[in-house]
Amino acid sequence: MKLHLHDTLTREKRTFVPLDPNNVRMYVCGPTVYDFAHIGNARPVIVFDVLFRLLRHLYGADHVTYVRNITDVDDKINDRAARDFPGLPLNEAIRKVTEKTEKQFHEDVDALGCLRPTVEPRATEHIVEMRAIIEKLVAGGFAYVAEDHVLFSPQAMNAANSVLPRYGALANRSLDEMIAGARVDVAPYKRDATDFVLWKPSKPGEPSWPSPAGIKVEGRPGWHIECSAMAWKHLGEQFDIHGGGIDLVFPHHENELAQSCCAFHEGRMANIWMHNGFLQVEGEKMSKSLGNFVTIRELLGGWQGYGWPGEALRLNMLRTHYRQPIDWTLEGLDEAHKTLWTWYEGLASVEPLSELPADIVASLCDDLNTPQMIAAMHGLHRSGKKRELRAALRLLGFSGDRNKIGRVAVATGTSDGVSTARASSGAIEAADVEKLIADRQAARARKDFKESDRIRDELAAMGVVIKDSKEGTTWEVAR
Ligand code: AMP
Ligand code: ZN
Repeated sequence: MKLHLHDTLTREKRTFVPLDPNNVRMYVCGPTVYDFAHIGNARPVIVFDVLFRLLRHLYGADHVTYVRNITDVDDKINDRAARDFPGLPLNEAIRKVTEKTEKQFHEDVDALGCLRPTVEPRATEHIVEMRAIIEKLVAGGFAYVAEDHVLFSPQAMNAANSVLPRYGALANRSLDEMIAGARVDVAPYKRDATDFVLWKPSKPGEPSWPSPAGIKVEGRPGWHIECSAMAWKHLGEQFDIHGGGIDLVFPHHENELAQSCCAFHEGRMANIWMHNGFLQVEGEKMSKSLGNFVTIRELLGGWQGYGWPGEALRLNMLRTHYRQPIDWTLEGLDEAHKTLWTWYEGLASVEPLSELPADIVASLCDDLNTPQMIAAMHGLHRSGKKRELRAALRLLGFSGDRNKIGRVAVATGTSDGVSTARASSGAIEAADVEKLIADRQAARARKDFKESDRIRDELAAMGVVIKDSKEGTTWEVAR
């Protein structure tokens, strides 16, 4: 079956032809690790996980390499490290922040049913490759040194008479427009307003590495060069798919593309560029800076003892086509959860059909049309085709097991303006309750009353009322 994907660069749906079908290669920009990821950040992770699963289905699980980086050098990380660990040397504090955040990120996206990428490179482990690309760019006349910085010149790129793409082609902007729109307070060391940083000197105490291009003082990389370096190291000079959220098109991906094409004298970096639309709250992009965000962790319920199953978050995300904006609502989430609850009835013991229904795969192959696929899955459920439904669920990364989505309750909480109240869907598992009661008993026995109270609150949030007596603890569901 042919796969068609929308390419941001050519602005059309194109037939996907891998450079090497034995090793289909995809790069997706990953998180900057300084804080919990919000549910908007989960969108590219889930969308490209679905694509990863589809590619594995089409080309074989051992014939796909998926690289998603971890950005572990950034001003936001430095600021967070200084704030959270004021007593530690900055580099040590930074390591604490990045290790903790990376672990949280993994736990969160695992819970959303996402496979780990084949490689998860860290920026700080690829400084050698960054320096090598920078040297090539300086030698080729695309970059220059000024006041211990190295800057990339889009003008030099567009003046080169060669196979190179035009700077601005990905974002569909002309360089003249960009020059006209450039801010007035351009850094004095830049020759042109549109030049961007490849390398800059580090401030005292900041992470620093020996600089390229003959610069004497130590420095650190700019953001865009990191991805060019990691993609090169793990996928080569050219690869098949490059992905990320729509906000990364400009300047991040435009600059990555410019750096890689100029360094390797190629007309392309990735064959296809894919970008997911925004997850929104009341019509606005969910973002840290607007403060209208809710973290994956809060939704999952590792916070105040209640939450949504990761699979409900995943289905809610996939009900909208990846290029469209999603308005994230509780109603949508509740509906997604109810759908799974209905589909999963008696499904756990059903063997998935080994051959997937053609229309199911065809929907995904049509630029990841998950809403169409989900509509087809409703059809499978209605007509009692349990084995087909189980197979379709598996392809999309769903368990098909009610025990995995049964955690439920009546609870209300507010986090940063986004209500995380949830409705009861009557799926309290006795085993979960018994386990929590046993944990609470153990906490009381060791006089850890903070923990025992926390567990009682968690049970209350699930709608479970407990009564302690001499005979032990009994419980009932409050309705
Ligand atoms: P950031 O931490 O802002 O660099 O974002 C990490 C990834 O999440 C990038 O691929 C962003 O494009 C993506 N992203 C951030 N916010 C949203 C949002 N509200 N909706 C969809 N994707 C987002
Ligand atoms: Zn990137």
